[in-house]
Amino acid sequence: MARAGLVIAGTGLAGMAAAITAAQAGVEVRLLGPPPAAGDRVGDTLSAAGSAALAALGMEDLLVEGPHRPHLVTHAAWGLPVLAQRHAAAQPEGGGHILQRAAFEAALFWRVRALGVAVQPARAVAMAREGARWRVALDTGGEMEADGVIDATGRAAALARGHSRHFRADRLVAAWQFIARSDHEVEPSRASLIEAVEGGWWYGCLLPDERLSLAFFSDPDLLPRGLSRDLARWRALTDETVFIRRWLESASFDLVAPPRLASAATTWLAPAAGPGWAAAGDAACAFDPLSSHGMATALWTGRRAALALIAAGNGEKQALAAYAGEMAGAVTDFLLQRERVYGAERRWREAPFWKRRRGAAD
Ligand SMILES: Cc1cc2nc3c(=O)[nH]c(=O)nc-3n(C[C@H](O)[C@H](O)[C@H](O)COP(=O)(O)OP(=O)(O)OC[C@H]3O[C@@H](n4cnc5c(N)ncnc54)[C@H](O)[C@@H]3O)c2cc1C
Repeated sequence: MARAGLVIAGTGLAGMAAAITAAQAGVEVRLLGPPPAAGDRVGDTLSAAGSAALAALGMEDLLVEGPHRPHLVTHAAWGLPVLAQRHAAAQPEGGGHILQRAAFEAALFWRVRALGVAVQPARAVAMAREGARWRVALDTGGEMEADGVIDATGRAAALARGHSRHFRADRLVAAWQFIARSDHEVEPSRASLIEAVEGGWWYGCLLPDERLSLAFFSDPDLLPRGLSRDLARWRALTDETVFIRRWLESASFDLVAPPRLASAATTWLAPAAGPGWAAAGDAACAFDPLSSHGMATALWTGRRAALALIAAGNGEKQALAAYAGEMAGAVTDFLLQRERVYGAERRWREAPFWKRRRGAAD
């Protein structure tokens, strides 16, 4: 059986941040999971906090070297039927970046490998405590032994769920797609766009490769049935918007396929850590993408989880409890902020989507 100081399950941003932190600290680390896949990956807006988290890993140059671009302006029709502008120059935290996500994850993965981290493309299926160590079972039938384990398997929380409680605040789902232009005469806006509608809200941003990343966030029972196979219904949904529709039409972004669906619910584990283990990223807390903080949270918590496990291994008894406490505090703060932001949209107070976010019954 292979042994490691730290086993990290999950090759997303949280797992990679944890692996980088552990390797930089000289800890023997093994990273489990498939290499980041090429192809379209939803979630493209890295907040300013995300850039700071990358800097803490010593990896901020990736934002300059890659195809990514600065994100400065957001227009939002939220609470009122007009667009309000938010410019990064007026924000104390500054601007973020619009990522070509697959390229970004691939570049970070190369950095992980360059640090000498052993990567095994197996999936972790369970972990069990044995004395002071952990045994991690793999889908290949093999096992690994480690002093500490980080679950960074995303929303699945494949390892930590068996050792903690899983909570869910809602069932938010995203219908999303990347859209090419049929005519390149009109230059599309580089500002991101948020538009609230009766059944949820839309987010659009121009990717560095000039495609439009478009997503509609709603609840599963409020979306038309079979939407992921029904282009006509997808078009009909965009027709119900004002600003998104105008953007699609003016810059010739043609809808030629139905969207894909992905869970975007707010979920978390409590506690997010215990003796010899910690959860990081979406496995610990997956926030509604309205926050635009998922990637930043993944990078910060990946790093924090690795540091807490290393400190615990060095005899700092409270390190993991402190990490779990920080995560619980972050969830409480987020839930309050979520209520405030959704509460600011009062035009459809009686519509199910908005009512549910005030905690009222349908
Ligand atoms: C529609 C949508 C839009 C979003 N938009 C944004 C945005 O604009 N900005 C932003 O900051 N965030 C956004 N997010 C959130 C953001 O994408 C996530 O918070 C972030 O990807 C979390 O990273 P992670 O590493 O924790 O998890 P993931 O990215 O899910 O990575 C988990 C990894 O674990 C691997 N894995 C899974 N199971 C196992 C297993 N059993 N064993 C080993 N490996 C396993 C997976 O293959 C994957 O590589 C969005 C999310 C959604 C759904």
